[in-house]
Amino acid sequence: MQGSSVQIKGRILYVTDDLALLEKQLAGEDISYDVEKNEPSLVGNISTDELTPGWVCYYYDETLARFCLVGLRGGKVGKDAIKNGGYGVIVSGISKGCGSSRETAPYSELKSGVQLVIAKSIEKIYRQNAQNIGLLTSTDFGLIERIQRGEAIPMSEFTKGLDPISAAIVEHGGLFAYNRARLAGKTTPPAVTTGARPMTLCEKILAAHVIVDAKAGQLGAVAVKPGDAFFARTDVRFSHEYVTPMAESLFSAEMGKDAKVTDPESVFAFRDHLTFLDLVMPRAHREMGLKEQAEELATVQESFTKRQGVKLYGEVHRDGKLVGSEAICHNKVIEELALPGQLVAGTDSHTCMAGALGCFAFGVGSTDMANAWYTKDVRVTVPETARFVLTGLLPHGVCAKDVMLHILSQPFFKTGQGIGKVLEFAGDGVRAMPLDERATLTNMAVEAGGFTGIIEADDVVVDYLVKQRGLVAEDVRKRIVKADPDAKYLATFEIDLSSLEPMVATPGDPRNGIPLRDLPGTKIDIAYGGSCTGGKKADMDMYAEVLKLALEQGKKVKDGVHLYIQFGSQDIRRYAEAKGYLDVFAKAGAELVDPSCGACIKAGPGVSDSPDQVTVSAINRNFPGRSGPGKVYLASPLVVAASAIAGKIVSPDSL
Ligand code: SF4
Repeated sequence: MQGSSVQIKGRILYVTDDLALLEKQLAGEDISYDVEKNEPSLVGNISTDELTPGWVCYYYDETLARFCLVGLRGGKVGKDAIKNGGYGVIVSGISKGCGSSRETAPYSELKSGVQLVIAKSIEKIYRQNAQNIGLLTSTDFGLIERIQRGEAIPMSEFTKGLDPISAAIVEHGGLFAYNRARLAGKTTPPAVTTGARPMTLCEKILAAHVIVDAKAGQLGAVAVKPGDAFFARTDVRFSHEYVTPMAESLFSAEMGKDAKVTDPESVFAFRDHLTFLDLVMPRAHREMGLKEQAEELATVQESFTKRQGVKLYGEVHRDGKLVGSEAICHNKVIEELALPGQLVAGTDSHTCMAGALGCFAFGVGSTDMANAWYTKDVRVTVPETARFVLTGLLPHGVCAKDVMLHILSQPFFKTGQGIGKVLEFAGDGVRAMPLDERATLTNMAVEAGGFTGIIEADDVVVDYLVKQRGLVAEDVRKRIVKADPDAKYLATFEIDLSSLEPMVATPGDPRNGIPLRDLPGTKIDIAYGGSCTGGKKADMDMYAEVLKLALEQGKKVKDGVHLYIQFGSQDIRRYAEAKGYLDVFAKAGAELVDPSCGACIKAGPGVSDSPDQVTVSAINRNFPGRSGPGKVYLASPLVVAASAIAGKIVSPDSL
């Protein structure tokens, strides 16, 4: 247990938009900040990619401290700058820790000596990861003056507004310390006492998974409401190679070297993120020994899965040659693992994609997963739900990606109000979408800082599971959870799909959506169609539709442009092959890549290698540096394929 107050020591680093001021601080000078005037202005939307870029995550121990913030836009933060700077506090603008769920980000800050992160708003997964490892967070800028006066800050300042479990975790200095106290009977999570009430879809699923008595295996509360906090029983737990080693080292350090994963049949591992890294790793990174470091992630994961009896979706050989991964985790979770009404936890922010099946699926950090391996539980604070009722039908040439780029560009999200909320999609417009298109909506819910995305399962889901997995329709129907008709929502937004048009998000943030017609012919170097979001069967249909049309017109991928099409899973590749798409793609001049996260995570064909390169991409996020140093515009699969032909960002109608 931490003391009742904490003395924050060290310097205060203001992450300023003014690069000269930032450099001054890094050189040893302290500056002042005017809270009222917000001067100097603070950098907002610092993503976890900027805190610990993909290549930094090849490390999974205290070495991470040496690279804290090296990906920050502007390129001013060098190796060891934060660690050697003597900082106790880091201050920045809105949406601190947006993007990927990587726990390496707050861990690198903590191990650099940072005790407290202050920001105007803090993203949900990042904040939860920070709590789990004992890094304090606050949105109270009034603390700065008190810290400068040398005041010891009461712990209650850091637990204000938190649910009782999160507050207890902060007070104990992290999740492991809290769980040790919980297992020793020194602390008990409060019982869920909410009486019967109308519930949303998510609330109903969560209520069914509340752990009432862990030892007796008793689950289920009468009802839950937003703000209720408890441990919930998972049905599916998974992690990929980027995160498994860090979780494993935490797991064995805290639970002992011989500790066993509980119920390993419901635990899965994926080797999907770094499969093609070797093809694109810059020489400088090789010289730093990062190739070997990255390979270690895979070998540590493999030996963990063998030792623990956990299924690993690994690499695939064809004609005797290693060609790629079995699948990107999220595509495989939908193809084989998750079911309606379940609770799915994965060590990746896009775990929410499985919400398209009508399950509650969300991303957790390494510490949460290490605990969940042992207890099967994850802690949850019931989020509020924002409901998006989609009506009407999408016009030709407009698809789910455009819907999400439109939704994310709305003030509700741009101002951070979506952080930590569930995005539930409903209405005839959603019902008319195939499962893959629904999965684009739920996948991108996290780009708004959302907790998860979800869609009530219906016959589209039943038919999919019957066809894909050979399940019995009636068994699937029995699992479907529906919201109560009088459930309460934080907000309801009605969107007439027939009014939408092709969208594009300009570089830097998926919330930068604008109508494509407002973007004057932007020349491109790279068009990338792949990732969990853009590498599904329906996406392949869209690439093929546009490229067939181009071939009929005697056109191919524009000279000087590279079009990459990368499948989300081997099953999707087989689908494309059976449909004759491989031939179409090849004839049009696309380069085909077997499944892996690849360019989406700057680790495969399709990455940019210079700041002036321009990419149009079907991936879900375009935070700075995400897919290389170039500029990334997000767009639909239709726009990606059309742009590859035109050599500039265009809608397919203009071909
Ligand atoms: S494809 Fe991209 S967004 Fe999807 S899991 Fe991989 S890295 Fe994450």
